Amino acid sequence: MRILITGGGGFIGSYLTESLLNDGHEVTIIDNFSTGSEDNIVHLEINERFRLVIGDILDYKLMLKYISECDCIYHLAAAVGVKYVLDNQLDSLITNVRGTEIVLDLAHVFKKKIFLSSSSEVYGKNGGSKSFKETDDRILGAVNISRWGYAFSKGVDEFLAVAYHQSKGLPVVIGRLFNICGPRQSPRYGMVIPRFVQQALKNEPLTVYGDGKQVRSFTYITDAVAAIKAIMGEKEAEGGVFNIGSCESVSIGELAEKIKAFSNSSSQIGFVPYEQAYDNNFEDMFYRVPDISKIEKLIGPFVKMKLDEMIKEIINYYRGN
Ligand code: UDP
Repeated sequence: MRILITGGGGFIGSYLTESLLNDGHEVTIIDNFSTGSEDNIVHLEINERFRLVIGDILDYKLMLKYISECDCIYHLAAAVGVKYVLDNQLDSLITNVRGTEIVLDLAHVFKKKIFLSSSSEVYGKNGGSKSFKETDDRILGAVNISRWGYAFSKGVDEFLAVAYHQSKGLPVVIGRLFNICGPRQSPRYGMVIPRFVQQALKNEPLTVYGDGKQVRSFTYITDAVAAIKAIMGEKEAEGGVFNIGSCESVSIGELAEKIKAFSNSSSQIGFVPYEQAYDNNFEDMFYRVPDISKIEKLIGPFVKMKLDEMIKEIINYYRGN
């Protein structure tokens, strides 16, 4: 197939591109390299079935050309990382809302199947210690807290996609990704694992924000890519929203301890108040773990990598680089 990946130069997009090329497809990626990087895809450039287009999803004419020429789309282009979103509020909202609307509309015009990459951020601060189901309520905070704007914009993307499916029959599949991590993920946009690993390897203090009791579940990149491709292949998934993540949970304090131990680091573990890490207008999510029964019913078990193994892989990667 001729596959178009928006955001193919990003961390997740580059692994998806590689995997689809390995499956024998022709893959065109569109990326403006705002957070993606040519370093992520440089090893793919020798493949004659690979094409890189440097451009923006907000460029309607460009998108029209490439969507009209492809067989299906993986739409991954979006603002990425809590730090990036806080530093680039307006651009993030416009990319997520206007950009996605352009891509969905053109997918509809040219009748192309599309995967929409959404985020576990959409659940908001729906606290407690219960794993999130796709049908759960979403609780978002005040509009002066930029983080919720991002969560809101991803929610708008999902509403648009579902509405295109219901009103116009667009074959769209929506995946909510839960803290995907792996080699090549940049620490620049705030993501905790690459940050802690780099800090540990430099024997600098590990910056645990708040009291470190907040809980996440981390999903290894190759497991996430396998799930994205599998769910995209399911006719029954069209119009549906699916959590894509691992159920193995960890507190950020425990994560710091593990990374320190596995890297034999002499780093201290430091606790940084949120207002110092971000600013006064920040709220964290205290518990974010997926219920993956819905996706597993369709594609079977897809989580292969345990947290300890993934941390070790990432440490090895950074050691070698
Ligand atoms: N975090 C931290 N130290 C850091 C970066 C992040 O303690 O240097 C925390 C952050 O506050 C959050 C968790 O780690 O509770 C995961 O953060 P990340 O930005 O990776 O993803 P999020 O789950 O917030 O989207």
